[in-house]
Amino acid sequence: MHLISIDDLSVEQIESLFSTSDGFLEVASRPIKKVPTLRGRTQVNMFFEASTRTLTSFELAGKRLSADVVNIKASGSSVSKGESLKDTILTLESYRPDILVMRHDKVGACRMATRYTNASVVNAGDGAGEHPTQCLLDLYSLRREFGDLRGMKVAIVGDVLRSRVARSNIFGFRKMGIDVRLVGPSTLMPPGVERWGVPIYEDLDALHDVDVVYLLRMQMERAKGKVPPVPSLREYSRLWGLSPARLRPGQRVMHPGPINRGVELTGDLADDARSLILHQVESGLAVRMAILYHVLAPHSEGDGLI
Ligand code: ASP
Repeated sequence: MHLISIDDLSVEQIESLFSTSDGFLEVASRPIKKVPTLRGRTQVNMFFEASTRTLTSFELAGKRLSADVVNIKASGSSVSKGESLKDTILTLESYRPDILVMRHDKVGACRMATRYTNASVVNAGDGAGEHPTQCLLDLYSLRREFGDLRGMKVAIVGDVLRSRVARSNIFGFRKMGIDVRLVGPSTLMPPGVERWGVPIYEDLDALHDVDVVYLLRMQMERAKGKVPPVPSLREYSRLWGLSPARLRPGQRVMHPGPINRGVELTGDLADDARSLILHQVESGLAVRMAILYHVLAPHSEGDGLI
């Protein structure tokens, strides 16, 4: 199977993925962190856009499952010589990969890749489209921290306009019974946002009763050549940046990373015990191991999981 959109998964599939992740989280606490689950399988990570967490966690996830893992980045590959995405994928297909983990700056590139490969394609972020594995690791972090997801309240704050994480998380969080609201200046909300059916607020007062404040990164690199959606970063951080003083007791903070200290949140909040940012990274490895296993599971009968 492929994982292109968070909508590709049912509630039951997400829950089963989390049970598998629990097992892999336990594996990560062992002195020897490797299991034979994907021995003999080939995983290609094709990253045409910058990444730290997603690439390292998918690479480590594949290696800990004993897969053969190859990384391809746009710079240094034939893509920089003008090779088309189709030709790059067809070339790699000669090696008969089992899993293709792909990040691309164009919405829809991962879905297109499914036409040219027999591998299971996993979307690791397609432009401002979706980032389903981020959504799954965030849900898993919430489940580890709070237990039951149903009825939780989460505010997603900031640059919704350019965020694929916001798109996947709004739909994925709601699917799992979480009450989601958006907070930020109207210039950072995409056109047609009302059709998503989530309440939208301009003011941080809307955070008063939420369990979690999910901050989005201000995506400056996507603004090239366009009118900036906020007058200045200083202004943004003054009005929408989060500091420990703006949090209520019991509230937790999440962020997909990379964080801009002093923009979306103050440095002391990033380092505060109420921040789940590094907990998310830890969850990400276990969840991505589970994803690699589950996308191949239909063909893996008889393989021991752990
Ligand atoms: N790392 C996330 C992404 O790739 C979030 C971000 O870059 O702001 O979309």
